[in-house]
Amino acid sequence: MEIKKLEDLQTLVSLSKRRGFVFQSSEIYGGLNSCWDYGPLGSQLKLNVKLAWWKAMTRRSDIVGLDAAILMHPTVWKASGHVEGFSDPLVDCKECKNRFRQDTAMVDGKVICPSCGSDNVTEPRDFNLMFETHMGAIKDENSVVYMRPETAQGIFVNFENVQTSMRKKLPFGIAQIGKSFRNEITPGNFIFRTREFEQMEMQFFVKPGTDEKWFDEWKQIRWDFYKTIGLTESKLRYEEHGPDELAHYAKAAFDVQYEFPIGWQELEGVHNRSDFDLSQHQKFSGKKLEYFDEANKEKYLPYVIETAVGCDRLCLAVLCDAYREEITEKDGKKDSRIVMGFHPSLAPVKVAILPLSKKPELQEISHKIRDDLSLEWNVEYDETASIGKRYRRQDEIGTPLCVTVDFDSLEDKAVTVRHRDSMNQDRIPMEQLKTYIFDKLQQF
Ligand code: ATP
Repeated sequence: MEIKKLEDLQTLVSLSKRRGFVFQSSEIYGGLNSCWDYGPLGSQLKLNVKLAWWKAMTRRSDIVGLDAAILMHPTVWKASGHVEGFSDPLVDCKECKNRFRQDTAMVDGKVICPSCGSDNVTEPRDFNLMFETHMGAIKDENSVVYMRPETAQGIFVNFENVQTSMRKKLPFGIAQIGKSFRNEITPGNFIFRTREFEQMEMQFFVKPGTDEKWFDEWKQIRWDFYKTIGLTESKLRYEEHGPDELAHYAKAAFDVQYEFPIGWQELEGVHNRSDFDLSQHQKFSGKKLEYFDEANKEKYLPYVIETAVGCDRLCLAVLCDAYREEITEKDGKKDSRIVMGFHPSLAPVKVAILPLSKKPELQEISHKIRDDLSLEWNVEYDETASIGKRYRRQDEIGTPLCVTVDFDSLEDKAVTVRHRDSMNQDRIPMEQLKTYIFDKLQQF
């Protein structure tokens, strides 16, 4: 058997549309550039990705959750450095009028237009990536608010609220999932880089001096997370930011990179942000944000280790990683099976119920099984087309198990369970079905 992995994003874009994972936003109006809608299966997949992350974070006794507002006091973005510094240098090509990021178009120290190859370009101008809007009825410079470009600041400004309300002692972390907005100059590559996206961020507050130890620990924890959700380990790597790449707030930074069909790209950032953010907010708000360590009678501003991953980008990695085409040849005839080999915790549909015929006696048992299993899992019911076609449909959306109800089931009170990856089949008594499925889904 020949196995082909995903070679280009276009194949995934088509599958995503065909099978209800991701659609282009406002498609009937011609679409909106680099905006995407998650369909019925995509939204479930995304929810499962978030749940996996949320559980991995907040089930630790030293991490609590938060859900801060998207709109924040405008001074937050002055304190964080986003008003001043959150910009990309933009250049216009004088020949073909193309506009592009200077830093992505440097060739041998020269800026070359990626569209026409000319070096006849304007001086760079800074372009702030924050989306602005106005709050209230009057639109003037005093009513400007920003759509948050990262979720982290919602955590920093709530550090004291969370610490005192939850009586947390250092070290502890705050985890958050939420939308962020960046007016990216060059969005693209499907859901890899968009202007509206979701982030899953965790800021871990530690005593200065212990930050390097915690930084190493979080690097390992995040690596292990990707293994737990089934990403291929050889497609993951850590890349360290050199001194000239470090963000203004960072003492150290590593990116977790994944090998997408477009090459190795950042999936997550693990940063040592020092006490930059808390000290800035302390300065700009005038409120003391120091932590009092009762045991040692010490007062200090905590350091922060941050782990920040894009939920959409992780969904893309999960989709790319899951895709495979199995090609077999029998009697000179080629057959192909497309499988989304999701880890079962992420699979949008866990079990499909497939009665062999539409006869009422089979429907009756099948409906009962569907209703019973639906109490535990997201289940699909399909009684159309041949059983072979129905298995292929489930393979293509990554359903780990299919339950087939046949005429023998009426007599022996058993059903056939077919496995997505091995295609093996087991005959299981109906009364043991739930325990069997629990067991198989856990075993992955
Ligand atoms: P990049 O270098 O790709 O622009 P970044 O270093 O600015 O990303 P961070 O600010 O560290 O990214 O954000 C953390 C994570 O959020 C990134 O690792 C990525 O997964 C995700 N992310 C950032 N920008 C976008 C975007 N425009 N679209 C989708 N995900 C994004």
